[in-house]
Amino acid sequence: MCALCDQVPETASHICLQCCYAKEIWLLVSNWVGSGANLLTGVDGDIHEWWNRLLAPLNANQRRLVAAILMDTTWNIWKERNRRIFDNTTLRPDQVFELIQNDVLTGRRASGTPLLGEELLVSQVFMFSFRSSSDREQASIM
Ligand SMILES: [Zn+2]
Repeated sequence: MCALCDQVPETASHICLQCCYAKEIWLLVSNWVGSGANLLTGVDGDIHEWWNRLLAPLNANQRRLVAAILMDTTWNIWKERNRRIFDNTTLRPDQVFELIQNDVLTGRRASGTPLLGEELLVSQVFMFSFRSSSDREQASIM
């Protein structure tokens, strides 16, 4: 069973994308990357189509940024799964989101070029207001 929700048989695409726990993280990331971005669009279908649909409309620089965010997000969700199985510890979605932000922002510094747009620097205030409306947001993506 999935180590994150304990409701569905474990597959990589379920854990990283379709799990209700993963979706909470993706919603936080979607809001962080700016208005209009919904990284979960098409997430219940074919993963390659999901990936291509997100990246195809972008120019090379944008694609590099969004691909980095997608990889940092899936990687951190996978690490949370391993944390639960091997370390017997649990983080909340907003805590994993903070780790993702750190990874993305560290990547930006390492590359020496600004990967992220202004919208990405979303305030903590926004995160808290998002959390209070997460039930409504959740319903809209199901
Ligand atoms: Zn799950």
